[in-house]
Amino acid sequence: MLADKDRIFTNVYGFQPWNLDAAVMRGDWDNTKALLQLGPDTIIDRIKASGLRGRGGAGFPTGTKWSFMPKAPKPDRPNFLVINADESEPGSCKDREIIRHDPHKLIEGALVAGFAMRARAAYIYIRGEYIREAEVLFAAIAEAYAKGLLGKNACGSGYDFDVFAHRGAGAYICGEETAMLESLEGKKGQPRLKPPFPAGAGLYGCPTTVNNVESIAVVPTILRRSPEWFASFGAENNRGTKLFQISGHVNRPCVVEEAMSIPFRELIEKHCGGIRGGWDNLLCVIPGGSSVPLVKAEQIIDAPMDFDGLKAVGSGLGTAAVIVMDKSTDVVRAISRLSYFYKHESCGQCTPCREGTGWMWRVMERLRTGDADLSEIDTLQQVTKQVEGHTICALGDAAAWPIQGLIKNFRPELERRINEKRGGGVQPMQEAAE
Ligand code: SF4
Repeated sequence: MLADKDRIFTNVYGFQPWNLDAAVMRGDWDNTKALLQLGPDTIIDRIKASGLRGRGGAGFPTGTKWSFMPKAPKPDRPNFLVINADESEPGSCKDREIIRHDPHKLIEGALVAGFAMRARAAYIYIRGEYIREAEVLFAAIAEAYAKGLLGKNACGSGYDFDVFAHRGAGAYICGEETAMLESLEGKKGQPRLKPPFPAGAGLYGCPTTVNNVESIAVVPTILRRSPEWFASFGAENNRGTKLFQISGHVNRPCVVEEAMSIPFRELIEKHCGGIRGGWDNLLCVIPGGSSVPLVKAEQIIDAPMDFDGLKAVGSGLGTAAVIVMDKSTDVVRAISRLSYFYKHESCGQCTPCREGTGWMWRVMERLRTGDADLSEIDTLQQVTKQVEGHTICALGDAAAWPIQGLIKNFRPELERRINEKRGGGVQPMQEAAE
């Protein structure tokens, strides 16, 4: 188990105040000028050496991403850092804890990361529903300006850097990086075609890097404690500590910082008091937020909770939002509900996503009630393949994968419902209870 001394987020439960004085007591803003004096290239090299991979889901190496930014930005085309705080993935709730209890970690990280990528300013795009969190964020940024930590000559470093917080209006798709840029520019939040990638033409057409809140918030601590320290946690290629968010049928759902690659069973036993009703009662797990495929109990129990370990069992780490389902779950209904979510959140630009998400949801509903035809299971599988990889952004994939996971792992359950409905037999569990 991760020792307390190795935790980056020491106020994730809000036992102490979030404000600047308390943050300084916890070690934030401690000679930030010295971190900036390392110089942009050294900071990027150290972040690369730490093995940090993006914490927003894709897992792209953070230092490498920063190195794509122009090293000599033109005066009329400054570099920008955009921080994705539009945490809307069902199951995900870690960035919220950082912002409401430890916002100065994020703000200091924005300055250091922005300096490393030679950015003129950082924009923190916060989910519209995070009202109290946004209040804290605005207040924390104002504190930082008042103390000279941001703005002209930030931290006395001679570098000018601004941080702006921008509230979204509640659309899931604005968490997609290019939709976020559109939204920041005041347009409808719809993903852009790539290329050009944001590092070439991002916010206002200028070079931009979009990073997740957690990816940025860990940067000052990595630089202070050394890349080797961060890389000492987790397996090869999956380094560092990570905020896991465990919800569903565990005895104590929680957000907890742990070392990457911790086995699933250990994570649940040590921090959540085990599975509700014991381990034999575990049905399946969605390990990385709603857009990754579910994994059956026997496959995940000993799996390492990291990018490669979960890929090996046919799923993904995503945002490490672990949704646990025990045997009382109507898993078909659960996935159908997710299908409805993606149908509702599709921005409608591409036909496979706009039409496919609605189509998939309607078939899922028929499968839920057992009113579908047996052949529709294969048809649905084919449709998910026609949506996957054929859309502008990853929402199409996100809508397809949970259904593919369901068909792969629970096909007999889908067939049972159809057969029983035809034979006038038992109704799906959830309907029988209603
Ligand atoms: Fe919009 Fe869906 Fe296309 Fe993404 S995949 S751009 S959400 S229609």
